[in-house]
Amino acid sequence: MPDRSFLDWPFFEQRHRDWADKLDAWCGKNLPVDHSDVDAACRDLVARLGEAGFLKPTALDTDNPGPLDVRTLCLTRETLARHDGLADFAFAMQGLGTGAISLFGTPEQQQWLDRTRAGKTISAFALSEPRSGSDVANMDMTATRDGDDYVLSGEKTWISNGGIADLYTVFARTGEAPGAKGISAFLVPADTPGLEVAERLDVIAPHPLARLAFNDVRVPASAMIGRPGEGFKIAMSVLDVFRSTVGAAALGFARRALDETLDRAGSRELFGAPLFDLQMVQGHIAEMALDIDAAALLIYRAAWTKDMGAPRVTREAAMAKLFATDRAQEVIDKAVQIHGGDGVRRGHIVESLYREIRALRIYEGASDVQKVVIARQIGK
Ligand SMILES: Cc1cc2nc3c(=O)[nH]c(=O)nc-3n(C[C@H](O)[C@H](O)[C@H](O)COP(=O)(O)OP(=O)(O)OC[C@H]3O[C@@H](n4cnc5c(N)ncnc54)[C@H](O)[C@@H]3O)c2cc1C
Repeated sequence: MPDRSFLDWPFFEQRHRDWADKLDAWCGKNLPVDHSDVDAACRDLVARLGEAGFLKPTALDTDNPGPLDVRTLCLTRETLARHDGLADFAFAMQGLGTGAISLFGTPEQQQWLDRTRAGKTISAFALSEPRSGSDVANMDMTATRDGDDYVLSGEKTWISNGGIADLYTVFARTGEAPGAKGISAFLVPADTPGLEVAERLDVIAPHPLARLAFNDVRVPASAMIGRPGEGFKIAMSVLDVFRSTVGAAALGFARRALDETLDRAGSRELFGAPLFDLQMVQGHIAEMALDIDAAALLIYRAAWTKDMGAPRVTREAAMAKLFATDRAQEVIDKAVQIHGGDGVRRGHIVESLYREIRALRIYEGASDVQKVVIARQIGK
C-alpha cells in the first residue's frame, strides 16, 4: 500500500487530496496500458485522460483563467508515474507542449487549449536541436520574416510526441540580438506544409520521439507566441513551471520501487526468515524511504512556492528536479538489487522502472546543468 501520509503536509489543500484519491482510483482501474505500440498507447491515453477530466490542470482554463496549479501537476505526475510511466508521459507533454500558450498566448492561440485539456489535440515542445541541447541559446533554426509570415528552417531533435503531435510549440532564431535574446516562439500545427518527421528515435524507455525537419515552413506572423526575441524567456518560464513536475514523476517511480521492494522483502524467504529481517536489507529500505521523503519535501516546497505567487522558482525547481531524479535512480537501483535476478528480468516492474528513470536526469536540463543553476542562484 503506497504511503499517502505526505498528503497531510501543509503544502496541500483538501482539493489536492480529493484529486489524488480520484486519480489513484482511476489509475487502479485503467493502468498500466500495453506499451507494445507507444504511438497508439499515447493517443489512447491522452484521449482517455482527457475524457476523464485529468488533463484539465495541464493548461489555462480560458473560461476561468488563473495560474497553473503546480501542486496538482506534481501530484498528478507522481500518481501516474507510480502506475505507468507512459501515462505520466502522455499527461506531462500536454502541459509542456502548451505551456507557452497558457502563459504568453493570445486569446486566439489559447483557443487550442480547450482541445488539449480535453485530450482531443496532442501537443509537443520543440526546443532542442542536434547542436544545441544544454546550450539551447546557441540554436541554429531560423524564422525569417517574409511579408505577413515567418518562414521556419532547420531541425529539432529529441521531440517527445514527435510524429503523433497535432500541435508544436517551436523555438527559432529571429535575430533581434545574438544568443538568447534573438529567439522567438511559434505555434505550428503539425499539418503545416514543410514540417516533416525526419527520423523516429528509439530509447531505453520508449515513447513517441522524433527528429523533425522544418523545410521552409510558412506560418502567419500571428503564430508567434509572445513578442519577437522573447522565446528564450518564454522557454525558461515554461520550464520554471514544469521542471519540478519532472521531479514528481521521478518520485512516483521511486515510490513504486519502494512498494515493490516492501512486498518482495515481506514475501521472500531467505535463510529461514523473510528477506526483510536481514538488517542490510532494512538499511537499504530506510535509505529508500528517506530519499523519497526528502525528494517529496523539495518538490512540494517548489510547487507550493510557485502556487503562492512567486514570480520565479528557479532555485527551488532546480533543487527538486536534481535531487528527486538522482535519488530516484538510487532508490530504483536498490529495488533491483533486493529483487535479485527478478530485478533485471525483462518485463518485471522494477526492470522497467530502472529504464524509465534514466532519461529524467538528462531532459529539461541535465543534472549537471541543475547544479550550475543552483550555484548561480545561491552565489548571485
Ligand atoms: C527521452 C528524451 C526526451 C526529450 N524530450 C524533449 C522534448 O520534448 N523537447 C525538447 O526540446 N527536447 C527534448 N529532449 C532533449 C533534452 O532536453 C536534451 O537531450 C538535453 O537538454 C541535453 O542535451 P543534449 O542531449 O544535446 O546533450 P548535451 O547538451 O550535449 O550535454 C551532454 C551532457 O553534458 C553535460 N553538461 C551539459 N551542460 C553542462 C554544464 N553547463 N556543466 C556541466 N556539465 C554539462 C551533462 O551531463 C549533459 O547530459 C529530450 C531528451 C530525451 C533523452
